[in-house]
Amino acid sequence: MSEHYDLIAIGGGSGGLSVAERAARFGARCAVVESGRLGGTCVNVGCVPKKIMWYGADLAHRLRDAADYGFDLRVGGFDWAELARRREAYISGINTWYHTYLEDSDVAEIPGHARFVEPRTLDVEGRRISADHVVIGVGGRPVIPDVPGAALGIDSDGFFALEHRPERVAVIGAGYIAVELAGMLNALGTRVSMYLRRETFLRSFDPMLRDTLMEQMLADGVNVLPRTAITGLTRTAGGISVACEQAESGGEYDAVIWAVGRKPNTADLGLDAAGVIRDGDGFIPVDGFQNTNVEGVYAIGDVTGGPALTPVAIAAGRRLADRLFGGQPERRLVYENIPSVVFSHPPIGTVGLTEDEARETHGDAVKVYTTRFTGMFHALTEHKVMTAMKLITVGAKDKVVGAHIIGPGADEMLQGFAVAIRMGATKQDLDDTVALHPTSAEELVTMR
Ligand code: FAD
Ligand code: NDP
Repeated sequence: MSEHYDLIAIGGGSGGLSVAERAARFGARCAVVESGRLGGTCVNVGCVPKKIMWYGADLAHRLRDAADYGFDLRVGGFDWAELARRREAYISGINTWYHTYLEDSDVAEIPGHARFVEPRTLDVEGRRISADHVVIGVGGRPVIPDVPGAALGIDSDGFFALEHRPERVAVIGAGYIAVELAGMLNALGTRVSMYLRRETFLRSFDPMLRDTLMEQMLADGVNVLPRTAITGLTRTAGGISVACEQAESGGEYDAVIWAVGRKPNTADLGLDAAGVIRDGDGFIPVDGFQNTNVEGVYAIGDVTGGPALTPVAIAAGRRLADRLFGGQPERRLVYENIPSVVFSHPPIGTVGLTEDEARETHGDAVKVYTTRFTGMFHALTEHKVMTAMKLITVGAKDKVVGAHIIGPGADEMLQGFAVAIRMGATKQDLDDTVALHPTSAEELVTMR
């Protein structure tokens, strides 16, 4: 027997849950198909467990600094297993909450793996379901490179499955996940080597951010190995050995983490049966309204190859529901000025154009304001953490087109500035805003 819905979301992650929940609020009959755990990557093996580990690492820094504030602290140790247990208990609570939430929202939860059999008809473990609108929100998974012994390494999912803190870790990669995991492990006492295939990490970020982070990570003891090409991993008596074309960079570790990007979960989705096109990397191309090439089939979130961020998947899903069921035919997500935070140590907050992008687009009309300082908290501490900020403006009105911050608190600082930039703030608007004192954030409204 076939079941028919107004909307089916394939994937119960950030995007799928948000589109179904919003559509149901408009009275649409909705279902979410999920093959794993509700909440998707973000809740189970992404933002949420990562941020818990980041808080743990941040606490390690604070404990180190406490003596400089007069505390006589003796830290008996750090129990990784206990932190992991508490983290997973928190996540189970979120999973349970989602089950109840879907039920309360009148969204049907269909467990299992969905495959298209026709453009708007799916097979889920032998069950046939169809809908007027099918939204693909299947997300992605980590890439493991094709080198000998690659399976001896783990990926970010494997990092969250670690039961004990590894003593020596190699992190291979140079993106968000690489710098975040390397920073956390280092703060929690692991000896970390980062293998970068180029000169530096966070290549698409403003150079000020990555240079400052590189400086800080080196100062904090991370062993960064630039321009290394990994040729394979082997099991040895003492651990896992990493071999590189640059023989001197090889080493032996207790864990090796691949953090070399993610690929979309589209290989086993029956897209051909639906006629939905994928690009060469498996992502599903969409227009500005999340439409795929097939009428009534949409894609949102990581599977589209757009910015792979939870709030982006959520915003795209909600706007799609507003458009399909909320009587807002022009509603869509504008993929500009999307703010982003890297939970490095210290964190990075960034929105808008980098300096290079701004100069490429606006040439000599670009002005750049920078500042670099050690925040007041670290005036008393032996261990110093840098803060650096950059504002990029264009034109006679000095319209702000980019804001880049690295330093303690940058993660919490950026959101309000992202609103201001979206509203078209000028440098004068920032200058006319009364500062909050004493904070690091006040530098953003007092830069010369
Ligand atoms: P997902 O959340 O991946 O959900 C897709 C769901 O679809 C999954 O649950 C999967 O099981 C299911 N699925 C797949 N195929 C099928 C199928 N055929 N049938 C049924 N179900 C299927 N973003 C941030 O904004 N901030 C962060 O701090 C952050 N940290 C991250 C840390 C890590 C380690 C990682 C890996 C990612 C992080 N991200 C972060 C990115 C964020 O997790 C993703 O952008 C977000 O989860 C994408 O949502 P989505 O709905 O597109 O896909
Ligand atoms: P990214 O796309 O950020 O980075 C992938 C990195 O892998 C690149 O830096 C690339 O290096 C490197 N790389 C690719 N192939 C190889 C290889 N064969 N050998 C060595 N290095 C290689 O991917 P991530 O997996 O880190 O994260 C995926 C996405 O998830 C992010 O883009 C982000 O959108 C999201 N995310 C967001 C977070 C947040 O919001 N805080 C946190 C974590 C993830 P190179 O630059 O040299 O080409």
